[in-house]
Amino acid sequence: MSVSTSLPRRRRFSRAQLDALDREFESAHPTEIIQWATATFGKGLCLATSFADTLLVDLATSVDPDIPVVFSDTGFHFAETLDTMRRAQVRYQLDLVVLRGTDDRVDVWQDGVDACCAARKVAPFRHYLRTQRDAWLSGLRRSDSAARSAARVIDFDADGLVKINPIAGWSDEQVDEYITTRDVLVNPLAADGYASIGCWPCTEPADADDPRAGRWAGMTKTECGLHL
Ligand code: SF4
Repeated sequence: MSVSTSLPRRRRFSRAQLDALDREFESAHPTEIIQWATATFGKGLCLATSFADTLLVDLATSVDPDIPVVFSDTGFHFAETLDTMRRAQVRYQLDLVVLRGTDDRVDVWQDGVDACCAARKVAPFRHYLRTQRDAWLSGLRRSDSAARSAARVIDFDADGLVKINPIAGWSDEQVDEYITTRDVLVNPLAADGYASIGCWPCTEPADADDPRAGRWAGMTKTECGLHL
């Protein structure tokens, strides 16, 4: 587990500079992007994962074995997800940061999904980033959903920190090939038809053509809020 350290807050890039980097990285391999990120942000960089698989973890730890890997424990994760996290910690010897909300009274049953996600996932994650990091890696891909179809490789997040999506442009075929080649850990729920994996009250199996259709199924909600 990571020990909290305060880092000086720095906004290193203008919007124009970030736009230029985004164009430059559009055709770059994810490893090249992660190498740039680790060289640029050093200990100010972390990786966020939901442990649907360890593809991004595998890529990033190949560049920096000590990169902090952040998981938001909402209290509603599937046992298979927590087991994937434990297996990843053993395999990669992760510097694992597990974040938990401070208000367990807020839950999906009493307060609705937006309040539940805000309290259990978004608020702890945003607080962690604002107080301890300058930039973060995400496994977001354009093929995840229509809402993510325009995702950039590098952008500012809602708080002005640099957010890097090294596999934004990867196709499902590229993901499958990397997983097979590197024997990447995959959450066993994927084999049961869960194309996207979140909390158990809000996740159903879904068709691979629309992987996030099983998240908050039947609702207008499509994102927890981390990627807005
Ligand atoms: S996905 Fe569902 S259970 Fe998980 S934090 Fe959001 S509303 Fe709560």
